[in-house]
Order: sequence, then structure tokens, then C-alpha cells
Amino acid sequence: MTINADPQELAKFGELAHRWWDPQGEFRPLHQINPLRLDWIDGLAKLKGRRVVDIGCGGGILAESMAARGASVLGIDLSVKPLRVAQLHAMEAGVENLDYREVAAEALAAEAPAGFDVVTCMEMLEHVPTPASVVQACAALVKPGGWVFFSTINRNAKAFAFAIVGAEHLLKMLPKGTHEYARFIRPSELAGWAREAGLVVDQLKGMEYNPLTQRYWLSADTSVNYLVACRRPS
Ligand code: SAH
Repeated sequence: MTINADPQELAKFGELAHRWWDPQGEFRPLHQINPLRLDWIDGLAKLKGRRVVDIGCGGGILAESMAARGASVLGIDLSVKPLRVAQLHAMEAGVENLDYREVAAEALAAEAPAGFDVVTCMEMLEHVPTPASVVQACAALVKPGGWVFFSTINRNAKAFAFAIVGAEHLLKMLPKGTHEYARFIRPSELAGWAREAGLVVDQLKGMEYNPLTQRYWLSADTSVNYLVACRRPS
């Protein structure tokens, strides 16, 4: 099986892995958005006691926070260094019910079909050659009646201006080259892949950012960053 991953993308995250938990470092945006997405996911899926898999977990910012809410979480990624950082951080933080594995979403789906109550796949699809295949794997991993959450970046002129020119070049919130415009995903495309995989789209939310106040909030404006909540029919 050819692996659905871009080695350059994985290397990029590997090189920055030691910086993952610095709240003022390169991954600062992930730290800043985490409470927002965590509360949204928890509000819908009621994390306590659930079995969760976090696809493309990186250094574990979301995975660890879901485990701290009482879920039993498996974080998977194909970049080794972020996984090591995630493991170390979990040990130091003393968070239990949290494991990490280097395995592709598609391979885990073949190994543990319908193995999880909740699947999260945040800020990851825009780094993958064939995102539809990851969406399909997420649908296969979730139990009937369970939840699948995605977040990514829209593809239009405003998203280019905000997510690449603004965030990488003007505000320097992210390292240059973090995102590639051609890999951005329209909500209609993501919803289409989800439906083809047998999921039902339950919610679509925009995530907005004000650079002056440095605040993030959820809204109906999906023109740049957005989140999707899907369910697998029971
Ligand atoms: N989901 C985390 C990290 C986002 S950064 C969060 O939102 O906090 C994107 C992550 O996706 C990186 O850790 C990168 O290594 C991972 N990634 C990129 N391509 C991948 C692939 N094909 N399979 C699994 N993980 C991948």
C-alpha cells in the first residue's frame, strides 16, 4: 500500500517538534485555538469516558486536552519527532488514558474498524496528498452513532490573503511555507468526501481571528478557517 503522506510535510513538522509546547513559539496558533475547539468538540460529543482517536495529532495539544477531559485518547501521526514530544509531554503532565502511535489513518482503519466513539482530524487534511482517503479512514474508524470532527482552511482569495500572506508573511504567526494554497479545501469538497464516506454533516462553523486583540472565536463565517462536525448514522 502506498502511504498517503508527503515526506516534506512530515519533515517540516519534525524539524519544529521541539518547539511544539512553547505557547509563544511556531505552534502558538494551535495553543490559542485549542480551548475553543476542545469546548466545541466536548459540547457535542461529551468526551468523558469516550474512546477517541486524534489523526495527525502532532505534539499532542488537542489529544492531551481531550484526555484531561476524561476521554481515552489515541493520537496518531506519521512524523516521529512530534509523537516523541507528545509522549514526553503526556508523561510530564501525568495525563493518563493517552497513547501515541506512528501509524497511517488508513492502516489503523483496516486494523480497528468502528473502534472509536470520536475521531478528530484537525489542521491536518491540508497537508496530505489525498485528503479524501483520510476522510474515508475517519469514517471507517468511528462507531455507528459516533462523531467525526475536521478542521482545515478554505480555498479562495480571502483565505490566501489571510492564511498565507497575513499569517505567514505580514503577522509572522506561522513559519513561511507552513501552508500551500493548492492544498486548501473548500467546505463543499470536504462535505462531499464526508458524504461519500457515509457520514452526515451535522455542523459547519467558521473560526475567525482578530489580529489586534489576538482573539479567536467561532462564527458562521467559513471563508478562511473552519470546522466540520459529522456523525456516522447508527
Ligand atoms: N492536529 C494537531 C496538529 C496539527 S499540525 C493540532 O491541531 O493540534 C499537522 C500535523 O499533521 C503534523 O503533526 C503532521 O506531522 C501531521 N501529518 C501531516 N501529514 C500526515 C499524514 N499523511 N498522516 C498523519 N499525519 C500527518
